[in-house]
Amino acid sequence: MGFYTCSICGKKLIRRKHNGLWVFRFGRGGDFTPVEMLIFGHIKMRCIRRRCRKENPDHWNEFTLFPKSVKTIGQKSNDNEDDSSESGE
Ligand SMILES: [Zn+2]
Repeated sequence: MGFYTCSICGKKLIRRKHNGLWVFRFGRGGDFTPVEMLIFGHIKMRCIRRRCRKENPDHWNEFTLFPKSVKTIGQKSNDNEDDSSESGE
């Protein structure tokens, strides 16, 4: 998993799995992480560094669903398929 960082200060904000899921963990407390989420989609996220937010109050980091390095992952070929068609494991 690689970290995606704030485009201004470089603070690590969110990680991404190879399958495209975002992994967001936040919080302190040794072996306990209060906030842990998996997100699928296009994300806009503010920096979690206080000083960066203060200096750049209007700045949002934007992380697209498809990474820039990957051109198009067969987006057009299966427009009509949604998750409901094949979800029964
Ligand atoms: Zn920042």
